Formats: sequence, structure tokens, C-alpha cells
Amino acid sequence: MSLYRVRGPDGEPVWAEVDDERFVATGLPEPLRRLGETTAETIEAGTDLGDVESTDALAPSVPSKIVCLGRNYRRHAEELGNAIPDEPLIFLKPPSAVVPTETAIEVPPQSDEVHHEAELAVVIGRCARGVSAERAADCIAGYTCANDVTARDIQRREGPFTRAKGFDTFCPLGPALRPADGFEPADHRLVGRVDGEVRQSSPLDDFIFPIAEAVAFISDIMTLEVGDVVLTGTPAGVGPIAAGQTVEVEVDGIGTLENPVVRREP
Ligand code: ZN
Repeated sequence: MSLYRVRGPDGEPVWAEVDDERFVATGLPEPLRRLGETTAETIEAGTDLGDVESTDALAPSVPSKIVCLGRNYRRHAEELGNAIPDEPLIFLKPPSAVVPTETAIEVPPQSDEVHHEAELAVVIGRCARGVSAERAADCIAGYTCANDVTARDIQRREGPFTRAKGFDTFCPLGPALRPADGFEPADHRLVGRVDGEVRQSSPLDDFIFPIAEAVAFISDIMTLEVGDVVLTGTPAGVGPIAAGQTVEVEVDGIGTLENPVVRREP
């Protein structure tokens, strides 16, 4: 069952499930407790938090950092004629880039070519430092959808990805957290749409570096804290988005992350 972070009656985030089109307060299951137990202390489980249509879901995590994998889909790399990398290629997005579902992606005045990148996101639930791939799997709290929004023109002309991928609003995350327990990504599909038209569609079984291996690799470089997010790379079909359009990233079993696009005036 997918878990949502929503704003409770006192303004504090509360974990909720969806029941009959309503958000209902719920406690976090034991393996997820470290992500923050708000419900049990402040709000009784079962409390009605409002209609899903009129209550905003928050991003399912407040990460201290977002670590992203580049070139991690085998068929996509082959299709582009890219060499299969020997080691994961990683880069960071700043936490200030995170926006929840239904919040606008702002195309900044510095770019004329902003692309969507539909991705599966991992949310860390247990501090991971120098862990093996086997242990890394135990450090994953769950999964959500992400859009690794990228100013492609800037990325092309600069070596570092920081500016191209670091603008505010360039990391939509959500809408829900699907606990890792009982969710096998390889059995699910990632779809990216622009204005309802499918642009990206791939099963989640095509990773060059499997998720646990990638988390272990990252944890050998930087400690992954509870709540940190790992973006697992994007499949074929990335492309431009423009003001007035709506972008969706869907993983069946998690939900659909939906963000309108606007232009930020200089
Ligand atoms: Zn990406």
C-alpha cells in the first residue's frame, strides 16, 4: 500500500493512506519508523485528513541530498551507441530542487531546452555507510517516482551537471512512498508522459547497475542518511517540455507524479 505525506490539521506533515478517495492518517510500519513518526504522537491513526482531490500531497521525503545515476538503462545505452560503463556515473541534485506532485516545474530564463527524465527513486530508511549490496537492500525504505528535470542546453555546454540539473523545481518527487517490503521494482514499469502522450516506457528490470549495487557503491563514497534519495537513471525517450504542458511520471504500484510546466520570468 502506498503511503502519502500530507499536511495535517496543525500544519505538520502526517503519513496517510488513501481510503475511498480520502487521506486517512496512519502510523508508519516498523521498518519505516526512522522516516519520522508524526502520526502516532500528534494524530490518531484513522483520522480523516481530507479529500485526495483537495488535499496536497507533500514530497514523500525531505532528503539531505539526492544522488543520481547517469546512463543506467542497458537498452537505452545500446540504442544511443554509448559504451556500457564499468562503474556507476553519479552526480548530485540539491535538496532545494525538490517539489511535490502538482507543483509547477519552472523553466528558468537561463535555458531554452528543458527536458523531462522519468526515473524510479529510492528513499533511504537506514543510514548506509560502506555497506555491501546485500546490506544495502535493507537500507532502502521504499520507492517513489521522480523527474530528473534537466536544462539540456546547459548540460551540453558545461562539464559539471550542477547548474543544468540543480535549478529550483527540477526534482519533482512523489506522489507516494511505496514501502520496499513486498515491492519488487523488476515487476513494474516506468512511464513518462507529456500532455498524456507516452514519451518514455520501460520495465524496471533493465538497470546496468542493479539498485542495491548502486546504493552500496554510493555508500562507499558518501554516507546515505535516512530520507536521502537515489535517482536510478532514465530510459530512452527523454525530450523537451515547455510552459503550458503537464509532465507525468508513473510507476504502477506507486502512483503518478504530475507537474505542470511554467516559465519563470527573469
Ligand atoms: Zn537522470
